[in-house]
Amino acid sequence: MQGLSRIVPQWDVPANVGAMVTTRLGGHSQAPYASLNLAAHVGDSMDSLLQNLAVLEESLPGSLSLQWLRQEHGSGIALIDSARDPISADALLTQTPGVACCVLTADCLPVLLASARGDEVAIVHAGWRGMAAGLIEKTVHSMSNPPEQLHAWLGPAIGRCHFEVGEEVRRQLLAGEENPADLAACFIAKGYNNKYMADLYGLARCKLHRLRLSTVTGGDLCTYCDSERFFSYRRDGTTGRMASLIYIEEGIQ
Ligand SMILES: [Zn+2]
Repeated sequence: MQGLSRIVPQWDVPANVGAMVTTRLGGHSQAPYASLNLAAHVGDSMDSLLQNLAVLEESLPGSLSLQWLRQEHGSGIALIDSARDPISADALLTQTPGVACCVLTADCLPVLLASARGDEVAIVHAGWRGMAAGLIEKTVHSMSNPPEQLHAWLGPAIGRCHFEVGEEVRRQLLAGEENPADLAACFIAKGYNNKYMADLYGLARCKLHRLRLSTVTGGDLCTYCDSERFFSYRRDGTTGRMASLIYIEEGIQ
């Protein structure tokens, strides 16, 4: 279907790697889920959700099956070779063509990972809790390709313009780091109440560069700022979720 508004990463991966993020445009849900909500757990009507999933599936290769997560803000990673009921975890990894790794977000950061050979893809639901739990590092280390052979793209997330956190969140994100100067630079003190503006994108970039990934791109869209295209939990509270997908396409070299 032509109508689906989506964001496609511009990154240096082979043509057989498919990746996209939906926006809130082009769906069937009513406010506050208008209109392309893709999450079942946020209170939207099941009818609307099923129509929205059909819109998404029409925009994808017909043979592709989608694997969803029951996201827990934890550090669980699932290696999959087929799609089944939602898995309780916050990262998905596959080497199997035709299976899409899917994450739902509205402010948390979707990190998409693909190998330079196009033989392995992964996705991380990277909110601050997942990052504090080392989920980005764990996922990269779970992949069979070495980090130097991996590319990362950072999807829409709440930007440092809008992500205010307290001292406790900052402490957890810097905990256990021997030399956290680069990570600490991702927090700008507001000068009162021990509040900081936190840069989720910056934190992810630091972690991926430390891991020596080949390239890290994306990371320039704030979900809170762009109410036209994105759901934002911080901005709206009750709201929908966008989907980020990555897959190896069947039959393409
Ligand atoms: Zn913003």
